[in-house]
Amino acid sequence: MKKYIVIILFLVFGFFSNTSCFAEMVMYNIKTNKYHHIECKWAKKCTVNCIKIDKKEAIKRGGIPCKVCGG
Ligand SMILES: [Zn+2]
Repeated sequence: MKKYIVIILFLVFGFFSNTSCFAEMVMYNIKTNKYHHIECKWAKKCTVNCIKIDKKEAIKRGGIPCKVCGG
């Protein structure tokens, strides 16, 4: 029975960590490799080459944080 409680706790924790990941979405420029905060003025101007991805994913792809917004 104790085992099940541990599994449930892990599932709940996983759910919360997933929702916090959602808050870390950035606009990633596939041409320049720069990533921006979603509210950044440059992110709003970048409509052709930018994709909305997880910040961790942007870093994994070799993304560079924007100098204006810090990513
Ligand atoms: Zn920016």
